[in-house]
Amino acid sequence: MISPFLRSSALNTHEVCQQQFFINYSLGIQQIVNSAVQKGSIFHKVMEIIAKIALLNKTGEPYFIDEDIGKFENRDVFSYDIFDILNKVYNFFVENTDFEGSPSDYLDCQTWIKNILEFNDGDYDPRKRNIVQAEQFFDFELKRDWSKYKFSVGENNLEGHVRLRGTVDLITEVSESPKVWEIVDYKTGLRKNWANDKLKDDSNLKDDIQLRFYHYAISTIFPDVEDIIITLFYLRESAPFPVYFTKSDMLITEEMLKNKYMSIINNQRPKLRNDYKCRFCSFSKGDFQNSGQPACEFFRDKILQIGMPKVIDKYADLKSLKQYQGGGSVRE
Ligand code: SF4
Repeated sequence: MISPFLRSSALNTHEVCQQQFFINYSLGIQQIVNSAVQKGSIFHKVMEIIAKIALLNKTGEPYFIDEDIGKFENRDVFSYDIFDILNKVYNFFVENTDFEGSPSDYLDCQTWIKNILEFNDGDYDPRKRNIVQAEQFFDFELKRDWSKYKFSVGENNLEGHVRLRGTVDLITEVSESPKVWEIVDYKTGLRKNWANDKLKDDSNLKDDIQLRFYHYAISTIFPDVEDIIITLFYLRESAPFPVYFTKSDMLITEEMLKNKYMSIINNQRPKLRNDYKCRFCSFSKGDFQNSGQPACEFFRDKILQIGMPKVIDKYADLKSLKQYQGGGSVRE
């Protein structure tokens, strides 16, 4: 398979299904976004706006402009009505995307916001935190011998070192000296590993590649930060799961990333999941390019008939693969 970048969603996808990874990240064909994902995006947008207003209070900047919702002035973040912001964001999604919305969708967003703001007297309320950054985007080349790639796609070559890309929801400062940060990642889904259905908890989160990936990336960009706590906050059960990382964890993470990357790019025959989870995958549905087959089956057969390199030559969306190499934030 080819992969000019790694991001946490790609790593998770690869754990869940290699075929889904191939179609999505090697061919650049996007899954259809379902309403649960859009609901999560609404929640994240509201939290981002609140955190950015709180950051204005800290920095003294006069305003910020959200590209979708508009201008927010620097006034006391507690004077803003959060549910008014939710209404604006929710209506934006209904009017500008294929999200239809229902009373229960709205109620979910409202409940998640209440859960995060009210937990333990506001411990995770961004307005009460020392915010470093909201929606921190990262995108950098990881220059190692193992991360060098050269992929051909039709007449074109993609060449370089693998890029690490992603966005973390919220960074706050816990201690100034030594410098310790906490990254809070909001989770609107169930607290489980989708690859094996095991519950995520304190016994396995330290080995979670997504958390390690975030720690590795943020530690690389901000080398003066000593330790980083990464907290997954599961909104449905109103429960935070913090995991403490130190710089010594980076070595183990890099080894994990190297092994994962090697297994991705050396794989010429991606495995299919073929279980009940396929129901949630849009590649299991529809009629890909009028072939009479959904994308999953279509590419399974094509790889068998002509081999993966020719499938990539013929079907990879070069523009999409190149976009992933450039700028632009995409939610994990
Ligand atoms: S339909 Fe199933 S096997 Fe096919 S890509 Fe999706 S999850 Fe994988």
